[in-house]
Amino acid sequence: MSINLFAIRCKNVTKRFGSVRAVDHVDLTVAPGEFLGLLGPSGCGKTTFLRLIAGFEVPDTGTIEIGDMRVVGPKRWILPERRRVGMVFQDYALFPHMTVAKNVAYGVRKWPDQRERVGNALRLVGLDSFRKRMPHELSGGQQQRVALARALAPEPDVILLDEPFSNLDVALRARIRAETREILDRAGATVIFVTHDQEEALSLADRVAVMWDGRIVQVGDPEELYCNPTSREVAEFVGSANFLSAMVTDGHAECALGRFAVNGAAKHVDLDLMFRPEDIALTVAPDGASRVVAATFYGHDSTVTIRLETGEHIQVRLLGAPLAPGTRVHCQVTAEPRTFSRSP
Ligand code: ATP
Repeated sequence: MSINLFAIRCKNVTKRFGSVRAVDHVDLTVAPGEFLGLLGPSGCGKTTFLRLIAGFEVPDTGTIEIGDMRVVGPKRWILPERRRVGMVFQDYALFPHMTVAKNVAYGVRKWPDQRERVGNALRLVGLDSFRKRMPHELSGGQQQRVALARALAPEPDVILLDEPFSNLDVALRARIRAETREILDRAGATVIFVTHDQEEALSLADRVAVMWDGRIVQVGDPEELYCNPTSREVAEFVGSANFLSAMVTDGHAECALGRFAVNGAAKHVDLDLMFRPEDIALTVAPDGASRVVAATFYGHDSTVTIRLETGEHIQVRLLGAPLAPGTRVHCQVTAEPRTFSRSP
């Protein structure tokens, strides 16, 4: 008996629209039961990639396997409805003239156990008592759960969520995210959710795949991605990043914030050192060589922009209230910087 080590496996998947390579030679494997965040800026190809897995687009090259079924490949094409994949669209795409129960029943309307499946799906999302309501009588969060129940009713192996929380206001979003994760964990589905919000990806996903210009540039668990980005794009997109120029001599890189040991770098090369805004501590000092030039207060924390002696600017995160512009400070680095080759 063979056991599948993946729920989804994509190899060398490419999709072009005219001259645009929306998805560019993508390899990605998702483990059974995994909750994977697909993170990237607008237009990088996230939705197209989901649509390729669901079968709403045909790739130009590559293979896609879902469980033990090859759904796309040379001379192979499995219709969307036979892929055991449920998709929740960004705008939920509920049928406005149908009740909640009819919406949820839509994908299983010809199935003999339709009533039972609709009941199970509605109970799973906690909307059993809303079955007779119309979509316009529901809040945004409830509509999202109906869309989820509709996708879950056929008990698919894989659920694809396209920006599932972007239509919810900030106050609701954190709660609905946690609830959605709980529901999908209970359903036992393998999930890919698309987002351009790094905080959402980091806080919700087991692993995050970062997409850039149609390519997957890094995949890792949230901590690894944040602490060890392998490229400047990932460093800047997954959190905020300060880059300072440094010169390497004797195994050390020297920049405006001090001297740091670096492994394996050649002598006299120029590097950029990356510091996260929370990796720098400030001390107010009238003789400080650095100066606060701007400050933003967010309530739980604040961000200040510091002008260093070299003229370079960095962002520093402070708990609580910011320091006023003009304040002179000393900067102290509290974590190892990451090194990157100098950008052209
Ligand atoms: P967003 O976060 O803004 O939804 P995305 O990362 O999901 O963006 P896609 O919608 O997959 O990106 O689009 C990727 C690229 O492919 C874009 O340049 C887009 O304009 C292009 N594209 C997508 N669908 C089509 C289409 N049907 N015809 C032509 N070009 C398309």
